[in-house]
Parts: sequence; C-alpha cells; structure tokens
Amino acid sequence: MDNQKSANLTRSSAGLLTVQHHQAFLAAAIAVSEDAIFSTNVFGEIISWNPACTRMFGYTEIEAARKHISYIIPPDFLQGAELMLGAIAEGEPIDRFETFLLPKNGTPAHVVLSIQPVKDDTGAAIGATMIAYNSSHKNQADEKLGRLAAIIDSSDDAIISKTLAGIITSWNPAAERLFGYTENEAIGKHISLIIPVDRLSEEDIIIAHIAQGLKMDHFETMRITKGGTLVAISVTISPIVNSDGKIIGASKIARDISEHNKAVEKQSVLAAIVNSSDDAILSKTLDGNITSWNKAAEKMFGYTEEDAIGKHISLIIPPERLDEEYYIIGEVKRGRKVNHFHTVRLAKDGRHIPLSLSVSPVMNDKGEVIGASKIARDISEQLAAQERNARLYEQVKVLSAKKDEFIGLASHELKTPLTSILAYLQILMKSVTDTQGQVFLLKANLQVKKVIALIGDLLNVSQIETGKLKLNPERFDICRLITDNIEMVSHTNKKFTIVFESAIKELFITGDPHRIEQVIINLLTNAIRYAPASPKIVIHLYQQDQQIKVGVQDFGNGIAADKLVEIFSKFYRVDDHNTNISGLGIGLFLSQDIINRHNGKIWAESVVGEGSTFWFEIPI
Ligand code: ADP
Repeated sequence: MDNQKSANLTRSSAGLLTVQHHQAFLAAAIAVSEDAIFSTNVFGEIISWNPACTRMFGYTEIEAARKHISYIIPPDFLQGAELMLGAIAEGEPIDRFETFLLPKNGTPAHVVLSIQPVKDDTGAAIGATMIAYNSSHKNQADEKLGRLAAIIDSSDDAIISKTLAGIITSWNPAAERLFGYTENEAIGKHISLIIPVDRLSEEDIIIAHIAQGLKMDHFETMRITKGGTLVAISVTISPIVNSDGKIIGASKIARDISEHNKAVEKQSVLAAIVNSSDDAILSKTLDGNITSWNKAAEKMFGYTEEDAIGKHISLIIPPERLDEEYYIIGEVKRGRKVNHFHTVRLAKDGRHIPLSLSVSPVMNDKGEVIGASKIARDISEQLAAQERNARLYEQVKVLSAKKDEFIGLASHELKTPLTSILAYLQILMKSVTDTQGQVFLLKANLQVKKVIALIGDLLNVSQIETGKLKLNPERFDICRLITDNIEMVSHTNKKFTIVFESAIKELFITGDPHRIEQVIINLLTNAIRYAPASPKIVIHLYQQDQQIKVGVQDFGNGIAADKLVEIFSKFYRVDDHNTNISGLGIGLFLSQDIINRHNGKIWAESVVGEGSTFWFEIPI
C-alpha cells in the first residue's frame, strides 16, 4: 500500500521531489515545527504564521495576518524591528539574533531569531521568513534549567539578567519585591530603570568588566526602587556566556543590605560607646578566656588589648580572690547577673584596684550562655571619698557634742546671775513708790524674764542633744493646765482674747505637766507673735479613744505648705515673715521632742492668709 503511494510521487530526474511536492513537505514541516515560523513581505507585513507562532505569541493566524511586524515587537525595542526590516530589504540573512518579541499577554519574550530573506527569480527581495526560537521555553524544557529557574524564583536575593546593552532579560520575584517593578514592567527595559541618576556611570564600569569576562563580587552600591526609595545592595555580577563562549549578557544577584548596614552601624555605635567608656568593659568565655578588652580596661589594668585577649581572666585576679571567679562564673552559667560586686583586681604593675564589678551572661542565638561580659568601675576615688566623709562626720560629731556641752554650761552660768537680778528687781519693785520708777522696773522685770526663758530653751536644746532632758511624769488635769496657761499668757498680753473651746471640763492624763505646759505656752506665744493683727486665739481639746488632741488656732498670716514640716527643725525659721520678730527657731523643735517623748505627735495645719492650727496628740 505504502509502496503504491510512494510510487505516485513525482520525482525529478535525480530522484528528488518535484517543486510541487517539495512545497507540500515544507508546509507540513512548518505546521508541526516547535519553533515559531512566520514570513513577511518587503513592507514588513505578516503573510504567514504557523501554529507554533500562535502558541508563542498568542495571536491566531487570522489575527496576525497582514499585521505589521512591529505589532509583535516591544515599543522600547524597536531597534529590533529596524534590524529585521533592514535584513529583509537588503536580502541579507541574520542568524540567531537575540531579541525580544511581544506576545499578546504583554510580557516581552526573549527569543533567538533567524531571518532568511526571500527573493524572486530575478533576485529582487520579496520578503523574509523568520524563525523565532523561544529561549525561555527551551529552558523550561530542560529539566536542569527548570530546577535552576525554581531556585531563582524562590531566592531571597534579587536575580536579574541583562544583555550587554543593559536590557533586562530576566527578573525574579525577589527582584520584584526589592525594586517594586513586576517582571512585566522590568523585562525589556534598560537596567538604568533601577540605577540612581548619580550612579549611572557605574553601569559602564560594570559592563566593561563583564565584557572582559570578569566577575564582580559583593559590589556595594545603591539602587532606586519604583517608589523612589534608595536601597543599599551588595551585588555580584557574572558574565553570561553562550554555547559558543561568547559573552552575551550579565547576571546580577543583588542583596538588600540596608538592614545589614543598620546592624553594622549599630555595632559600630556600640563599639564606640564601649571604647569611649570610662569603665573597663571586657568579655570572656565560660572557661575564663578573655575575648574582648576595651580602652578603659587597657588604662585601668595596664595590659593592652593584644596582651589581654586570649589570656585567662586570672591575669587580673589577686591569687587570694580566685574563688570569686568560680562564684561569678557559676552565677553567669545559670543565666544570672552579678551586680555591683565590690572587689579588688590586680593591675600589670602590681597595684590593687578596688572595683565595683557587674557581670552579665552573654548568650548565643539559641539562648545558651556562651560567656560573660564584665563592666568594672574603679571605686578608689569613691572609697577615699567615703572614708573622708566618715572622718569628717566623726569630727563634726565631736565638735557638735562639745558645742552642746558648751551651750549647757554657758546657759547655766548665765542663768544664775540673771535669777538673782530678777530677785533684786522684785525687791526693788516693792520699795519704789513713784509711778515712772514702777513702770521702768516692770519693763526691766519683763525683759529679764524673757532672757531667762530664752536661756532655758537653749539649755533644753543642749539637754535634748546630750540626752539629759528628763521627764517627770505624774497624773494631772489637762483642762486645768490649759486654763492656767491661758490665764498666765493673757495676763501679759492683754489685747489678745484666748478662748478655750471644749466640751471636756476635767480630764486626767499621765505626763510631765511642766513639759506639756512648755509646749502649750510655746504654741500660744507663737500664735501671739506671728498673728499680731488678729487678736483672737482658740484652744481646742478633744478626747479620741485613749488619746487627747489639743489644738492652738490663730488667724494670722499662716505658713506655706512646703514649710509645715520644716518649722519643727532645730533653728529653722520661715524667713519671709520673721523679719521683725525675734526668735531662735527652737520653740517648735523643743515642743516636738517633748511630745515625741510622750509617745505622741505634733503637726501644723495652715492656710496662707487665714491662719494656722498647731495640734498635738498624746496618749492619756
Ligand atoms: P521661733 O518662733 O523662735 O522662730 P519656733 O520653733 O517657735 O521658733 O518657730 C519656728 C518658725 O515657725 C518660726 O520662726 C515661724 O516662722 C514659724 N511659726 C511658728 N508658729 C507660727 C504661727 N503660729 N504662725 C506662723 N508662723 C509660725
């Protein structure tokens, strides 16, 4: 049967096929070809289009027919069209020319194109047949290349390839993520798409390198993303060589090193801090081998970084303190810090340096302790200052005790003659009859009493300080004491009205009545002295559980809130309202001591401009 058919074929005399049959065979071959085969006339209009063309470009034969060749050429790659049309017009074949063609889906396809001009019998060009061989399709067909493509696609580094003219020919997903352009947007564009204007010259250098077949490793530079952000990248560029050994392009692997740069920056900031620190900062392994040593450590211990690194930490530990190291390392191994550990370390010149050590564990990524970092502060100065302060404190204490002793002695010595002056004045008052003489004696009497009271207070202060102020407790009626005190104070301050406001008529308590009287008189005379313009004073008395609470209220200028506690300090006086009121600032100090010794408390409440109330509370 087959023989029958083959017999029907017309053959040339040489036994070859006739032109007619030859065409039929060619047509069949073109129809089944894996490569896109199409023809154009001299004007560049498509006049034939095989099924592989439809597969490659997505246009059917009908869609493609009569379209100009530029229809399947990417707009920014029109130099390809010129080349093709030139080849057709000049009737010159082009073999394996790499270019881009534009399929219907819009993603430029990298193809290898061969152009064969067609001439009529007279030798005039009538068009051309082109075979486009899709290089990426071939890659996919190749299993090894397929695997490579998968690696490229899943790589975290941007991987890009380009022709020697700088036209991007491949663009992986990481490149999309890093630079913001999709594969569609990037392929077929010039690489300057991602080069900042001020770095465009770099590209010439890179291409010159590549053209010589040289690789560029870890070239650090900046690129610009679609959004206009500059990214720091480290790029490795290798030449792409075709099967003939010809360099046809370059592949680039770019890694975003912004984060890395930031980390490096942070590290160098840290290093700068460590090096400029006044504290010695060093690190060591868990075996105690020194791994870092800063400038301050050099200064403090006298060993250079070179001397110290690699040595055992016992280099700076006095032999009798080696045990400390076991303790510290033990803590660190358990992930614990050792803070402000006061110890002594040894300098190169044999000096013992008192230190405050803080040691922290150094951990690896997995959280395992791999060493320790130490910060050592020289505390010689601090210790010397502490010692100086302690000595000063002792000296001051001795001086202060001497002063208190002196005040006690002086008060005592002053009090004796003053008491006899007072006695003589009183005798005189009885014998002097003329009125003026009486007035003078009365005034002298009053002033001497004031001096005696002041000296009494001073004596009390010294007794407090030397622990000699004694209480003589007894049972007494506090109501009675208050009324007696009001009478006594009113007698010498006639323009003041002192009111005792209390529901209690009699209340016996245990305490030293003379000392409690001292407190009440103190508070009353203060109320008179510091509120001279408001002549009313009120004394309150309450009983609460087993306590009595006494208040002395005036309606004077009051005391600012921040002074309410301070007024009870020894020799403290509020300077703004005391300018013309004499005093030593010891009345309230004494009162507080007396109340404290009665297991009570004393405090003041005051509103500036409205007046103050001084309260004390003691157990019954
Ligand atoms: P002195 O009255 O001798 O200065 P005190 O210890 O009795 O000493 O009082 C301490 C300070 O408290 C006084 O200097 C005064 O500034 C203030 N002070 C005391 N009582 C009153 C008061 N009732 N009103 C306003 N200020 C007062």
